[in-house]
Formats: sequence, structure tokens, C-alpha cells
Amino acid sequence: MARTIPLLIDGEWRQSRSRELIEATDPATQEVLALAPKATTEEIEAAVASARQAFLEWREVPVPERARLMLRFQQLLKENHDDLAELLASETGKNFADAKGDIWRGIEVVEHAANVASLMMGETVENVARDIDTASWVQPLGVCAGITPFNFPAMIPLWMFPMAIACGNTFVLKPSEQDPLTPNWLAELFIEAGAPKGVLQVIHGGREQVDALLTHPDIRAISFVGSVAVGQHVYRTGTAHLKRVQAFAGAKNHMVILPDAHKDQVISNLIGSSCGAAGQRCMAISTAVFVGESREWIPDLAERMAELRPGHWKDQGASYGPLISPQAKQRVLRLIAEGKAEGAECLLDGSQCRVEGFPDGNWLGPTLFRGVTPKMTIYREEIFGPVLICLEVDTLDEAIALVNANPYGNGTSLFTRSGGAARHYQHAVEVGQVGINVPIPVPLPFFSFTGWKGSFYGDLHAYGKQAVRFYSETKTVTTRWFDDSPVSGPNMTIHLK
Ligand code: NAD
Repeated sequence: MARTIPLLIDGEWRQSRSRELIEATDPATQEVLALAPKATTEEIEAAVASARQAFLEWREVPVPERARLMLRFQQLLKENHDDLAELLASETGKNFADAKGDIWRGIEVVEHAANVASLMMGETVENVARDIDTASWVQPLGVCAGITPFNFPAMIPLWMFPMAIACGNTFVLKPSEQDPLTPNWLAELFIEAGAPKGVLQVIHGGREQVDALLTHPDIRAISFVGSVAVGQHVYRTGTAHLKRVQAFAGAKNHMVILPDAHKDQVISNLIGSSCGAAGQRCMAISTAVFVGESREWIPDLAERMAELRPGHWKDQGASYGPLISPQAKQRVLRLIAEGKAEGAECLLDGSQCRVEGFPDGNWLGPTLFRGVTPKMTIYREEIFGPVLICLEVDTLDEAIALVNANPYGNGTSLFTRSGGAARHYQHAVEVGQVGINVPIPVPLPFFSFTGWKGSFYGDLHAYGKQAVRFYSETKTVTTRWFDDSPVSGPNMTIHLK
């Protein structure tokens, strides 16, 4: 019998009083692994009230002490890395290496959060007027909340709460209902690392619970990662309730291939970046744009891609795992069918994929289309599966125009051996994260995760210096100190000492 997982409220793991439970299933077998309760209104109120109370003390804790909490947390994450990865793999279906990578990318953000003192440094100018100085101080906001997606149940919560809490805020996390066990374990480790009561709260649920956070008057800032439709809803609702919001949304990432690129590198990078993690990465390459005669490599790409084999995470030879849910698989199957119906040529069709021993898994084989045009549904919609679509153009400038006309702007990559072409591409392309001969250019945490256009709603991005600005206020203090000389007023003479 799957257990109902608890909520973390006011420093205690509590069983929810809710009767509404969401099943979190193993995507390779459909076995129910856990039941996530939809937190009640009273429970959400209690979590926010506790976070608000905890903020009063936490904001006064010296910055180096806050940083040391992050160092201890980082150490525990490293000690539990393999066990966490097994849990993460079982609830997401990701293969073990991917599961470890998911956690590792989160650990790097915790490591970065331990540098909070230097990140929070303000600015000073002496003598802004005669004998007057101005300094800026960086102060926390209060209670912040985070809403996370299924596809990185360790990394994305770790993008959020360590940075927010290191800055002196308290935090309410609402993880994805599809894989809630990993985030709960992260929170357990955070408490074990010494997080004071109430600094982190975890509530579970879906739409209603998110809406309660978006409209709650005591929450100052919302971090969201997920799909476009929900991202827009979160941004609109959160800002309408006068909150600071950063909402990271869907993507359609293009790799542009010039004919002077190294063919084998292009093919292996295209395969890994489109089908890795079953294509369920917001930075996956889902669209290849072949320029000029590089289009001649497409048949070889199809041949190599056909060698990929999905499988269970314990199968070390498997290339990638299942999709997260039967609904997610149905969505991708619908898009593959639309691609065919709209006239794209399907060179490789993974729709009928089976994996021996796992008849109920949400499997999908690698799928490759060519002859795709920008009007087709498979170009316009994010597919979020192991499906790569190919377009063909004659020049680099045509490729740039195509990428820039796309409403998304999360990531893009150019493969070439020409420095001039690379310089032109990185300058002209309207996408926030650019790789030159790097297929998935996710920046490390000392930069920020800088998606653009329809892939991001807000102003300040995740981690790096931008996260510190997102999770804080700047206060400027302008100061004048009088010297010892007597000060004369109209009716008095005083001495300052
Ligand atoms: P999702 O939008 O379905 O869910 C994200 C979160 O929103 C979950 O916690 C969920 O409970 C909540 N939610 C779902 N429906 C809601 C509603 N109607 N109202 C309020 N809250 C709601 O996303 P997902 O399927 O879990 O994740 C996949 C998506 O996330 C993809 O589109 C992917 O591109 C995107 N993603 C983006 C980034 C990025 O950095 N840009 C990173 C990872 C994932």
C-alpha cells in the first residue's frame, strides 16, 4: 500500500487532513509509489503563518551562519547522492546517470548559495554631496513561495529555496504532484542540516494549492517553473496580487548546423540532447535546422538514432526512460500523428515502442521527422518527448530568422568550425542561452538561468546574482555625521558630544 506523504508545516512533518489524494506512480510500471495530499486551506494558512513568524528571527541570523547551513546541507546531499538518485529514478523513470545529474545540478546551486555574503554586498559612494555618503544594503523580502515541475524534482526546488533562504527569507515549496518523494527528502535533509523551525515549509497539491499561494497576502515573491499555460497564469495572478514573480515556462530549442561542422559530433550531440531523459528537459534540443548541404547528414542521423533503446532505470544499457505519465505519452502520440497528417516525413516512428518486462510503462521510441515547416503543429508546440524535428534552410541568416520568429527563447545551439559564423549567431539570435558546439548550454549557478521571450515571464532569473536581486530588496541609506564643532540654531547652541 502506497503511503500518504506528509506536509512540512512549522518544523513538523504532519499528515494532511485532506481526503483528496493524488497518486504518484512509477512511470515504468504504473505502481502507485505515494499519495500526495491536496493541502487544505487551513494547512496552507498554517504554513504561511509559520513562515512569516520564522522570518522575524531568520532575517536576523548573521549571514555567515546562513551560509554555513548551506554548507552542511550540501554535505548531506552529497552523502545521500546515490540513495536520492535511486528514489528520483524510481519516481521519474530517469536513468541513474540522469538522476544523479539532476541532484548534482541542484547541489551546485546550494554550493553557490553558500557564497551569499559576497553576493549580497551592496554599493557605496563617498561624498555624494559635501560630507554625505550613500550606501545600499540588501535585505530579504519575507515569505517566498516556489512551485516546481515534474521533470527535475531535485534540481528545480534547489534552484529556489536555498538561494531564497540564504538571502534571509523563509520559503513555502509546492512540488510537482507527479514526483513528490524527492522534494520531501530534500526538505528532510535541510532540516537535518540545522534549518530552524519554519524556515522551509512543504505543502502538496495541484491547482487549488498553487492559487492559494498566488493570492496569499503574506507571500512576497513567487518562483515558478513549468508549462507555458500555467506559467502565464502564475505570472498574471501573482503580479495582479502585487507579488514579485519569476515564471520559467516551456521551450522549443533549435540546433543550427552549418555544413562546416564536424558531422559525427553533430549527430551524437543531436541524439543526446533530443532524446536524453526521454526529451523531457526544458533545454532539450527538439528542432534541428540544417543549413545547406549539412542536410545530407539526416539519413545517417536517422540510422544512429534508431539504435537508441528506452528501458527501465536499473537497465544500464537503456538510453533513456519512460515518459512521466500515460497522459504525457498520449499527448506526444497525438503530436506525432498530427506531424504525419500535416505532411512531415516520419523517418523514425517510436509510437509502437514496447519494453520487455514492462508492458505498462509509458514508453516511446526515438522519433525523427524531416520536411517540417514552421506552420506545422509539431513545430509550433512543445513536444516534450524523444522526438526530433528537422527543418532545412539555405543560409545561416535564414536559420537566424527562423529561430528569432519562434515565440520561445530558452536555449539554442550552433554547430560550426567558423568563429565568424559563431560570433554572428550568438550576437543576432534572440534566445537567452546560446551554445556554440555545446548542445545544452545550461549556465552554472554563478551565472543565471536566462531564458527569454515565451520561455520566461518576469525580470530577474534563477540563481546567480539575479536570484539574489529577485529574493531581496535594496535599501539606500544616505548619511551625514556632524563633526565636534558647535552647531548653531536660530535659538540655541548645542554641542554634539
Ligand atoms: P506543469 O505546468 O503542468 O506543472 C508545474 C507546476 O504547476 C506543478 O507544481 C503543478 O502542480 C502546477 N500546476 C499544474 N497545473 C496548474 C494550474 N492549472 N494552475 C496552477 N498550478 C498548476 O508543468 P510540468 O508538466 O510539471 O513540467 C513540464 C513543463 O515545464 C514543460 O513545459 C517544460 O518546458 C517546463 N520546464 C521549464 C523549465 C525552464 O527553466 N524554462 C525548466 C523545467 C521545466
